[in-house]
Amino acid sequence: NAAKEAQQRGWHLYLVGGAVRDLLLAPGNQTLLLQDIDLVVDGFHRAADVGAGVELASKLREIYPQVRLSVHGEFQTAALIWHKDPELGSLMIDIATARTEFYPYPAANPQVEASSIRQDLYRRDFTINALAVRLTSPKEGELLDFFGGVEDLRSHQIKVLHANSFIEDPTRIYRAVRFAVRLGFKIEPLTEEYIRYAIESGVYEKLRLENHPAPALTTRLRAELNYILEASYWKPALQLLSHLGALRPLHSQLVLTGELWWEIRCVSRWLRYLDPDHHVSHWLIRLEILIASLKTEERIKIASNLQLPKDSIERLENLDSMEKTIKSALPNCQKVSEFVLLLRQYKIQILIIVGVRSDKSIRHIIWQYLTQWSKTQALLNGNDLKAMGYKPSPKFKEILDQLLIATLDQKIETKQEAVDFVKT
Ligand code: ATP
Repeated sequence: NAAKEAQQRGWHLYLVGGAVRDLLLAPGNQTLLLQDIDLVVDGFHRAADVGAGVELASKLREIYPQVRLSVHGEFQTAALIWHKDPELGSLMIDIATARTEFYPYPAANPQVEASSIRQDLYRRDFTINALAVRLTSPKEGELLDFFGGVEDLRSHQIKVLHANSFIEDPTRIYRAVRFAVRLGFKIEPLTEEYIRYAIESGVYEKLRLENHPAPALTTRLRAELNYILEASYWKPALQLLSHLGALRPLHSQLVLTGELWWEIRCVSRWLRYLDPDHHVSHWLIRLEILIASLKTEERIKIASNLQLPKDSIERLENLDSMEKTIKSALPNCQKVSEFVLLLRQYKIQILIIVGVRSDKSIRHIIWQYLTQWSKTQALLNGNDLKAMGYKPSPKFKEILDQLLIATLDQKIETKQEAVDFVKT
């Protein structure tokens, strides 16, 4: 329908970007379920057609009223979102008006103007992401490969389209690493040189997260960090980022030392065991442990510039004092209940971070708390107390807490002992 509508208006419609790449990479007999589709319209005759992408999306919205439409006016793009289907998941179609971007100064936001598909593809990150398939006739189904993307797919290379690519947009460094690791490709040697040159050139100094970067850039940077640190391949990706010196655009002093590498792997092992269902955000804790290697003032700067969630910023802000309290108080605890009363004041995220940053004995206690002691429950609950004839009151909480303490310290082990305990 999108192609039909475009055709009727005398426009050309193309499938572009990741979908073309993934279709070409998929084995011939494999059905590929695309969840994120990028389309580009071009072939205009009038300046007014600059909003072609939005017009097409609005038309599709009329045909499929169940979809959600959101328009990003500034960039003349529109997104159509089909809600989650329990089996197929959700589908997002982005329709953009073909555009070029020119950068008035490095790392600024792209300015957009209508132009041809070739120029639109030229502004993309890598040759393998700059392929297009024509969806309108004539030559419907034709593959457009202006920059050697097909050959790079064959030879498993991540290659940029021009030397300034990383100067214009540092998030491309993270994307290069992400695609290289995910697809099992190599970053082409000249592209790697461009990455190193961009980092060395100091161009990122002014947009470093320790300063005041543009919000649009930090949003994209955070999204790339999220992708990488949440992915199953986060370990090789982080190692490659570190090998390229690519943590420096985040913060000049951020270095993946042996110790930090150990800590982040340890955090991940703990998370895998303690939170297999991802109730907390694993990528965020991995990022926090990286940021925690910096001084407190720097942590806060980078976390707030990256617009991390409020609780994450608070954790990084208060880490030193919480760490100090836990590390100094734990050695004074003797009974299990004392450990529990101390540690239960803290959220799992902070205990994991403090745990892996502590020496063996403290780490062991925190681990025991998280895996065992925190799961211990009082042998009676509020209903049991009611059944015993007590009227509900704030005292209940106190009684149940006393019961929990006695249970943790193994003073009571059976329900009958608990009942006797309450009566006395
Ligand atoms: P994925 O499967 O990870 O979603 P994708 O290639 O679809 O991969 P998107 O982030 O959805 O990735 O981007 C869609 C397309 O937009 C890319 O294929 C690429 O052509 C272009 N693109 C995205 N980010 C950039 C960027 N920072 N610089 C240039 N082009 C980009």
